[in-house]
This record gives sequence, structure tokens and C-alpha cells, in this order.
Amino acid sequence: MGFPVPNSLSPSRVDAFTSCPLQFRFASIEKLPEPPGAAAMKGSMVHRALELLFCLPPVERTTSNAHGCLDDAVAEYLLDPEFALLELDEAAVAAFIADASTLVDNYLTMEDPTAIREIGLELRLEAPVGDLSLRGIIDRLELDAAGGLIVTDYKTGRPPMRDREQGKLGGVNFYAFLCQAVLGRRPAKVRLMYLRTGETIESTPSEQSVTFLTKRTTAVWNAVERACSSGDFRPRPSGLCNHCAFQAFCPSFGGNPDLAAAALGSTMVAA
Ligand code: SF4
Repeated sequence: MGFPVPNSLSPSRVDAFTSCPLQFRFASIEKLPEPPGAAAMKGSMVHRALELLFCLPPVERTTSNAHGCLDDAVAEYLLDPEFALLELDEAAVAAFIADASTLVDNYLTMEDPTAIREIGLELRLEAPVGDLSLRGIIDRLELDAAGGLIVTDYKTGRPPMRDREQGKLGGVNFYAFLCQAVLGRRPAKVRLMYLRTGETIESTPSEQSVTFLTKRTTAVWNAVERACSSGDFRPRPSGLCNHCAFQAFCPSFGGNPDLAAAALGSTMVAA
């Protein structure tokens, strides 16, 4: 059975295909619904709070206003139907918000938001690579003292193990590629801010790192095209299986992937 070939990829989708092609098929080709995750939603809420903080004039980016921005973000998310799907009771909602507040406090220990010269927030960038469109959202784009571009990406999960660090930085270099392609300038620096632990991982993208990413993405894209044409999306069991919404339909767990679309409701558009 063949599948329609998607026409765009984001960094997380490239990671998803390389982590488990079958999971990629379920989520990105068949577009099967996945239940919302509390961790991902909390991450989005904190991203929104920081976006609101950077909408304020620099002098107003105080601790108290940062928590006011979180309050505004919480109010938005409590109205989101996806939040209701988490089915949190009152105590769990309070713990959820308290943890988001801790992440905002951690952020405030990592840098001084009044000193940041942001020029873009939640920037949606898209650039072609061959037939494929690469797209991504940059959390924050700013200028350093010398006028160079800095890409900052907030992370609310834990930092990667050291041997996976370069892979994660590869994701941010993806954004360096997008900056270069769309804005005509390669960033001077890309930064991952891990709000859970207070660690910041920085990288200076080079011509070679951007070229490497283009080649890697093209290779992943070619593999996606081959898998779509052959229908061969193999499962790749790992620790991620514990959080996989499609485990019941995975052959590695005794399931039949071809039953997933009928059971879960696919929104796949035929090619
Ligand atoms: S359960 Fe594991 S191997 Fe199966 S699709 Fe999900 S991530 Fe892939």
C-alpha cells in the first residue's frame, strides 16, 4: 500500500521519522489523532507566557510581570478544549500551574529579559529544499551587541544526554538554515534554554553545519518518499514506545497498523 508524500517537514518531523518510521506514518502521513500530553501543553503554556513577556517594553519585563504573563497564558489555556481533554482534577490543575510557574522562575535566573533585543517572536519560517518545503517556528530571534542574529529555543523538557546533544543542536541548526534561506543571514549563535534545569546549550552555526543539515534533510526526505511509495514504514522500538499513542496498532506490540486509520479516524488527504 502506498501513501501520499507530504510536501513539508519540520525539525520535529525529521526527528520523528528517524526515531520511528511507523510512528511517523501514523502521525504525519495518516494524521491520526493523538491525545494531548500534559508535558507538551505545559511547554506551550510557558512558551506563550514568555512570548507575552517579550511583547512588553524591556523595562517592564520584571519578575512580577513575568508571572502576570503566565497568569494570562493560563487563562488562555484553561479555555482551550484540548486542556479539558487532559482530565485534570482541581489539585492536578494547581500542580500543573505551579510547575509552569517554577519554569518561569527558572527562566528568570538564566538571563535578564530587560537586556534582550528581540526582533521576532514565534517566527514562522519556510524555505524550499528541492521539492520539499522546510518549515519551523523560531521562539525568539534577537540581535547581539555586534548586531548578529541569535536564535533562541526554549525547552521545557530535560537536556539530552551528552551523546545526543549534537543531534538536538542539529534541530536548532535547522532554524539557522531557515534564517539564512529566508532572512539572508546565518545566525551568529543558536541557543537552547532548558528551563527545567537552567542549562543553556549554545552553538555557532557554520556554512558546513548548514550544508550538512540540508544534505541530512534531503536524505531523510528521500527515505520518506521511498517509504511512502513502498508503504514500508518499519517500527523502531525504543524508550519512546512508552509514550506512543499508537502502540495498540504497532506490530512490535502485536498490533496491525492497517487497522489504525479506521479505529482512530484518519484525516489523510489522498495524493
Ligand atoms: S510503539 Fe514504538 S515502535 Fe511502535 S510505532 Fe510507537 S514508537 Fe514506533
